[in-house]
Amino acid sequence: EEVLRLAALGKTYNPGTPLEQQVLHDIDLRLGRGELTALIGPSGSGKSTLLNLIGLLDSPSAGELYLLGRPTHALDDAARTRLRNEAIGFVFQFHHLIPAFSVLDNVLMPLMIRHGKPTPAEVELALELLQAVDLRGFADKKANQISGGQQQRVAIARALVTRPALLLADEPTGNLDTKTAESVFALFRRFNREFGCAVLVVTHDPRLAASCARTVQLVDGRIVSDQANA
Ligand code: ADP
Ligand code: ADP
Repeated sequence: EEVLRLAALGKTYNPGTPLEQQVLHDIDLRLGRGELTALIGPSGSGKSTLLNLIGLLDSPSAGELYLLGRPTHALDDAARTRLRNEAIGFVFQFHHLIPAFSVLDNVLMPLMIRHGKPTPAEVELALELLQAVDLRGFADKKANQISGGQQQRVAIARALVTRPALLLADEPTGNLDTKTAESVFALFRRFNREFGCAVLVVTHDPRLAASCARTVQLVDGRIVSDQANA
């Protein structure tokens, strides 16, 4: 089952101006349900741009992007937001927790934004996710009372509480020490296995990339390799 398909996707910033710059060219990519894929490439190669397109945070200049089999180019803003909230979880390097809220309320936030008060089953799932990231005992702590690595794990639980078909992670371990970075990747692998969500993770760390099932490499806005890892 296909979660994501990119067909001849292109992105040009500032079209029709002297600053015009094409940063993505002819990107073809499919992600199946439950695929765990690393996106690597030098700085400036277009990784964040691609992630923003896939996350429906920005629009392509060419080609088509299918999410859960649905073409996305003709969607209006409201429909894009709905599909984003339904299909995608985000984990970024800077996790943007709400400092004065509890860890549990931070995890529940995407559900509160979606429909207000979470159901008991949703609170149960949030607690289960906190258990999975080893923070069950921290549920009632304020987000500003825990460490950076713990906050990053809270952000992962938050990204999964909506049970997204696709988890997008942009340098999620960029500011973490090696050991914490490895435990974050171990979590991605676990959720990928247990929830079947596809994961696309941008990383600069070749060792972490190698721990994904597949590695896609971007150079100058083009996919130059796409291979299964041993
Ligand atoms: P990466 O994530 O691989 O470092 P980016 O997608 O951030 O690459 O950037 C790719 C290219 O697009 C760079 O040359 C960058 O300067 C340019 N770029 C990124 N975002 C914008 C933007 N909003 N407007 C104009 N140019 C941008
Ligand atoms: P960069 O990759 O350049 O460091 P970020 O990863 O912080 O940038 O964010 C990329 C873009 O995604 C930004 O425009 C940011 O506002 C947006 N963004 C970050 N988190 C979310 C989210 N949970 N939902 C929607 N948009 C988000």
